[in-house]
Amino acid sequence: MITHTGGCHCGRVRFEVIAAEALEVSECNCSMCSKAGYLHLVVPADRFRLLSGSAALTTYAFNTRTAKHLFCSVCGIKSFYVPRSRPDGFSVNARCLDPGTVKQINVTQIDGRNWEKQYPQGKGEYTE
Ligand SMILES: [Zn+2]
Repeated sequence: MITHTGGCHCGRVRFEVIAAEALEVSECNCSMCSKAGYLHLVVPADRFRLLSGSAALTTYAFNTRTAKHLFCSVCGIKSFYVPRSRPDGFSVNARCLDPGTVKQINVTQIDGRNWEKQYPQGKGEYTE
């Protein structure tokens, strides 16, 4: 496990996340993720730290409103958010990590369009 850093496009939102060098991420086909091309790195809350930008973040919620989609209100990038599959943790967008620390990205497909089927327990697992 190492510390990766990342953030939004304009640089207001900055965070660090503890994860493996070779990341296991998921790509979701739901109405929101498929439009954004989001790559989910889902970690427990204690492995994520927001360094700056909390004042710039704006929240969008829909459907069950469990997920809190956190966008930078200046540049519009969702670099991390609170996922429905793990509302006690965070999902970081692997595409928003700074270059240099990620050795490899392994992508698994998630059927978020059929959320209840994908997560029959009502929650997902953390990824590395
Ligand atoms: Zn921004």
